[in-house]
Amino acid sequence: MTANVAKIRTRTGSTIMAVVKADGYGHGAATVAKAAVAAGAGWLGTTSVAEASALRDAGLAVPILTWLHPSGIDAEEAAAARIDVAVGSVDELGALLARAPSILRIHLHVDTGMSRGGCPRARWDELIDLARRGQQAQRGRVVGVMGHLPSADRADPEANAPAVARMREARRAVRAAGLGSPFTHLAATSGTLNDTATHFDMVRIGAGLVGIDPSGIMAMHGASRLTAPIVHTAAVPAGAPVGYDGAYVTERATHLSVLPLGYADGIPRELSPQACVEIHGRRYQLAGRVSMDQIVIDTGAEPFPAGTSATVFGPDGGATPAIWDWARWAGTIPHTIVTGIGPRVKRIIA
Ligand SMILES: *Cc1c(COP(=O)(O)O)cnc(C)c1O
Repeated sequence: MTANVAKIRTRTGSTIMAVVKADGYGHGAATVAKAAVAAGAGWLGTTSVAEASALRDAGLAVPILTWLHPSGIDAEEAAAARIDVAVGSVDELGALLARAPSILRIHLHVDTGMSRGGCPRARWDELIDLARRGQQAQRGRVVGVMGHLPSADRADPEANAPAVARMREARRAVRAAGLGSPFTHLAATSGTLNDTATHFDMVRIGAGLVGIDPSGIMAMHGASRLTAPIVHTAAVPAGAPVGYDGAYVTERATHLSVLPLGYADGIPRELSPQACVEIHGRRYQLAGRVSMDQIVIDTGAEPFPAGTSATVFGPDGGATPAIWDWARWAGTIPHTIVTGIGPRVKRIIA
C-alpha cells in the first residue's frame, strides 16, 4: 500500500484522500486508513458518519469526509468528531442545515455528468444560495465542492473534459456567492493516474490503494494475499464427475483437493474454466462448480496432503493469480473480487 501511495504521489501534487469505504475495499477500513496515512495520505473518505467515527475511535486524526449517508447525517456527531460531510441535493442540504452546528464543515457535491449522486446543474443556484443563507445563520459552513468522473477508466482526457469544465464552473459559482474559495475535488484513482486536468486540490483514491488501476494502464501493487489450506484430497479415476451437476468430469486418473472457500467467501460462482489457484509455485485448475463454502482443485499426479496451503490470489506475479485474473475469469472487475471477500475469511495484517 505504501508503494501504491508513492506511485500516486509521482502523478499528482494534490492532497491525497484515502477512500476506505466498503471496509477499506474488503481489506479492513482502519488497517488501510493507517497504512495510507503513514504513507502520506492527508485525508480519509467514507460513505457514512458512523464509519468515519469508527476511524476516529481507531486513532485517526486527519480530516475525514463522508458522502452518500445511507442512514442520513448525524450533524452533531459529525461536528463533534470533526467529520466533513458532502451533500448532493437541495433537500438533503435543507434537512442538514436545520440541525447543523456552526462548526459543521460542508462540501457541496455537484453532478459533473454522472446523474448518480450530486446536485443536478439546474439546481446549483438553489443549492449554493441555501448554503449561503445557512452559513449566515451560523448553520454550518461550506468548505469544499466535489464532483465525480463518469468516464475516467477510459484514460482519455477528452472523455473527462466535460466533467472538468463542470467542476470549474461549480467552483466559480461557489466563489461568486461569497463562500470563499472551496477545496475542490473530482478525481478518483483512474483520473489521478491518467489525467492531471482532473486533480484540482485533492484526489480521492480507493482502488489504487489496494492495487487496482481501474483503467488497467498502471501496474499497482497487490495489497493482499488470499490463501486456504487443503482440507481433503482423494485419488479419482478417469470419468469421475466432480461437484454439483457433475459439471466437470475428470479426463484421466487424477487427484482432487478441496479448499474451504466458496461463493459465501467471495469466490465468484460465475467462473470460466481457466480459473486456478497456485500451490508450491504451480497453477492448478478449479474442477466443477463453486459451492457455497468449497471449491475443488484438480492437481493431476500430485496428491497434496491436507494442510497444504493454496494461494487463490496474491501480489507475487509468476504462477500466483492476481485479482485481475479472477476478475477476468469471472467476467467482472477486480473491485468486486476484493470487496466480495466474506467475513469468514480471517484478515491478518502483515
Ligand atoms: C469510491 C469513490 C472514490 C474512489 O474511487 P476509486 O476508483 O476506487 O479510487 C472516489 N470518489 C467517490 C465519490 C467514491 O464514491
